[in-house]
Amino acid sequence: MPYNLRLVILGRDGILNVYREDHVKAPEEWQPVPGALEAVARLNHAGWHVVVATNQAGIGRGMIDMASLNSVHQRMMQRLAAVGGRLDAVFFCPHTPEDNCECRKPRPGLMKQIGSRYGIELRTVPMVCDTLRDLLAAQASEQLVHVSLSITSLDGALTRALEPRTSAPAARLRAITALREAGVPVGVMVAPVIPGLTDHELPAILEAASQAGAVAAGFTLLRLPESVGPLFLDWLERHRPLARQRVEGLIRSTRGGALDDARFGCRMRGDAAYADGIAASFKLFARKWELDRPRPPLDVTRFRPPRTADGQAYLF
Ligand SMILES: [Zn+2]
Repeated sequence: MPYNLRLVILGRDGILNVYREDHVKAPEEWQPVPGALEAVARLNHAGWHVVVATNQAGIGRGMIDMASLNSVHQRMMQRLAAVGGRLDAVFFCPHTPEDNCECRKPRPGLMKQIGSRYGIELRTVPMVCDTLRDLLAAQASEQLVHVSLSITSLDGALTRALEPRTSAPAARLRAITALREAGVPVGVMVAPVIPGLTDHELPAILEAASQAGAVAAGFTLLRLPESVGPLFLDWLERHRPLARQRVEGLIRSTRGGALDDARFGCRMRGDAAYADGIAASFKLFARKWELDRPRPPLDVTRFRPPRTADGQAYLF
């Protein structure tokens, strides 16, 4: 076993060549990302072996055959050779997501093949990916990461008015599923819960998140510190004029008559009967959908807190 082998794994599409939604089906469709081939050559010259691990669902979908894939890779190798770089090997998964195989990234099958081919521990092998999901998947396989997504409402129209330019509720649920399928533990933050406006959605949000694959949940109650208060009341006036009085009344009922209550223990939870009702409802439905359990433990043994020379940490 080459104990000192320096190996790096690269994705192909979006990393070495420009990503195409319709798959790279022929050599002329393989266009290098500017600088990528030179980067491989520099790695080679610095003593690194480089392999590619790539999902090629175009094969499973019948859009490209093996002969064409080989000629695409031949072009890739030639273009690399022209700048003094080389790949040791190309590992690929030919399946579609529906095949539910073990080798389609972010599942670990391809990486395991590489590990056994080179007789190398993968935890020390850097991998270059082009999606955050793949990076998170790699970290989650070592118990280094959890992810939380916030879902305020499942109502697309309300979300567009309340949180313009953020992802639609359905997209957030799909993100939960994609992360879960990649092996990343995902929690949902129902945040903020807006009394009289979104609190009735709490059970449905928890159900949808659970069915999408979330394993944990939390919530915070809306609070409106300082200048946020008038801003939100103005938003209500414009977008939900008929509900304004009731919503404002309920918010104040959870904050002792004010719009905010920063006392410790109240800031995120609120006070009084209405807030207690929201908390009780959260607890009930979090239990029902099995979102009230502790998340899998994180391995923090490799965490190194940033330290300055004099030992004093920065506040900002
Ligand atoms: Zn596969």
